Parts: sequence; structure tokens; C-alpha cells
Amino acid sequence: MKKQFTLISALVLHLFFAYAFTFAQTAAPVEKDKREADLVELVKLDKTIKLDIRYARADNFVGRAVYPEARAFLQRPAAEAMLRVHKKLKKLKLGLVIFDGYRPWTITKLFWEVTPEDKQKFVANPATGSRHNRGCAVDLSIYDLKTGKPVDMPSDFDEFTNRASPDYKGATEIQTKNRDLLRDSMEAEGFTVNKNEWWHFDYKDWQDYAIYDIPFSVIGNEKTSKPKIKERKDFKKFFDQAKVSGGIYIYDLRQNKYSIYDRERFDRQFVPASTSKIIHSLVFLDSGALKSENETIKWDGVKRVVEAWNQDHNLRSALKVSAVWFYVEARRAREDAKIL
Ligand SMILES: [Zn+2]
Repeated sequence: MKKQFTLISALVLHLFFAYAFTFAQTAAPVEKDKREADLVELVKLDKTIKLDIRYARADNFVGRAVYPEARAFLQRPAAEAMLRVHKKLKKLKLGLVIFDGYRPWTITKLFWEVTPEDKQKFVANPATGSRHNRGCAVDLSIYDLKTGKPVDMPSDFDEFTNRASPDYKGATEIQTKNRDLLRDSMEAEGFTVNKNEWWHFDYKDWQDYAIYDIPFSVIGNEKTSKPKIKERKDFKKFFDQAKVSGGIYIYDLRQNKYSIYDRERFDRQFVPASTSKIIHSLVFLDSGALKSENETIKWDGVKRVVEAWNQDHNLRSALKVSAVWFYVEARRAREDAKIL
């Protein structure tokens, strides 16, 4: 039985990786009168722009890779402005190193879900999206063209401390000089530094762009900005056969196409609201992070928006009501098992 279960888990996990984060649990917020995406791959503008994409590796605050590929993009005007900064720095034998640029909305949603509530002020709320989702924010630093090494800065990237503030006064003279050089160079080209993060800059026209959820794999292909949407009324038969009501979004990564059944119902977000919880539930059991579906995790007493979340839960009850906190807690236990 155990073996069979492992096999099923492996299968589900395989699916999960193949389509990682592309199941649209809910779609990105829609705004009117925005520009079409015109995302440019930064290294294609200048080969000496260096990449250090931590979200494509495990050494980031999530603790695992969340980008399928180590690539960075910005909307064309922002990318060109950043290129001008890079060229100016070259005269000082320096260059830009990129940590992150355009970020698909689904990843912002994932960051939100895996971040404990007391740290959520450091990550963007998916309900409003991030400027990274608009392709108009970039996280970057400076590196020495000769040695290839990053210059010394007051804090590491994604270090959630007061050292990360662009106005932090306690850094060494050289760190302060480097940080201010980056800020002055970026500001001269229409970027604004984030008040909590010296490495994060927003491009001035960010409001003209929408919140996009275009996966990296289709950028650069034709028609990247608008996925095709196909209504699949014929999916009704599957729901009828199972004698249930429901809606579904299926995203085809290769063709950038959604197949949708009953969008109106789907967008109402009944609980349980996310496919990923099913997969996580299997992983928790298979990895031993939870001994059984009846193992209870005590509620921390924090009142949350959904009344049904505000009590102790086990896997059965948590899945039923999509109790996010339960999954965050169980995930912590799973860290030791290092399954994902
Ligand atoms: Zn950022």
C-alpha cells in the first residue's frame, strides 16, 4: 500500500513540476486600458549584464527554486533605461548584476502563501500584485567587470532587516558609496528606489502596465501578452458524470492557452480553492511531515478572515476549508524532510 501511495505521489509530483504553478487557481487581477506586454530579455541587450537569479535556485527565502529558468525580463522602455545605467557603469569598470525582473503573478501568489503572516509586509499581496508583475521593477546590484564579483553592499539581497533600507546609516564607507552609486545611477534614468530595499527599483511608467502572468517559457514567442482562451462547454459532462458542480481552468504552457469551463463559477472561489493543497497534502503524508490525516496542528489564536480557519485543524479539516495557516505550519515540518 505504501509503495502504491509513493507511486501516486511521484506521479502527482511529476505533474506538479511539469506544470508548476501554471494551474490558474485564480487569475491575476484584471485592469483596463493597460499596455500590451513587450518583455525584453536583459542579457540579450548586453552580454555583460550578469544574472544571479536566486529564485531559480534554492538559496532564496522560499528555500527552493520557484522559477523554472534563470532568466530576467523587463518591459522595453525600462530595459532600455537599465541598459543606459549599465553602459555608464562600464566606464567605471563596473556592471549590473540582476537578481530579479519581471515576475509572473502566480509566483507572487506563491510567495504570499509560503510567507508567515508576520513577514508578509515584505512580500506583495497577490490581490494588488507587485510592480515586478508589471515588468517594471528590477532587483539588482553592481559587480566588478574584471573580477566578476559583486561589490560590497550594506546587506544581502532579500535580507529583511533595517540594513536593507537605502537610507541605512550604519554601513561602512565603501558599502555606502556602492549603494549610493547604484541609487544615483538608476534614479538618473527614471527609476525610484524602494524605501525598504536598496536593490529594488521601480520604473516610472509602471502604472501603464497590467499585472501579467506570462510564464518565462513563452516570452519571446509570438503573442506572449495575451493567452488564448477557449471556452470548453464540453467539460460539463465530467462534472455531470461525477454529480458535482464546479469550474476549471487548464493552462497549456506550450501554447499559452487556457481551456476554461464555467468561468463565472470558478471566479467565485469556493473553498477549497486551490489545486496545490491536494498535492501538498500528499507530500505531507508521504514525507512523514504529518503522521496521518488526523494529526492535529494547534491554532495559534490569530483571527483570520475565514471563520472556519480559526480553530485547530488536521489535514482532513484543513483541506475542506483551505486553511492556509495549516499548510504553512505543516510545510515548516516538511522542510526537514526536504521533499520539495
Ligand atoms: Zn523587488
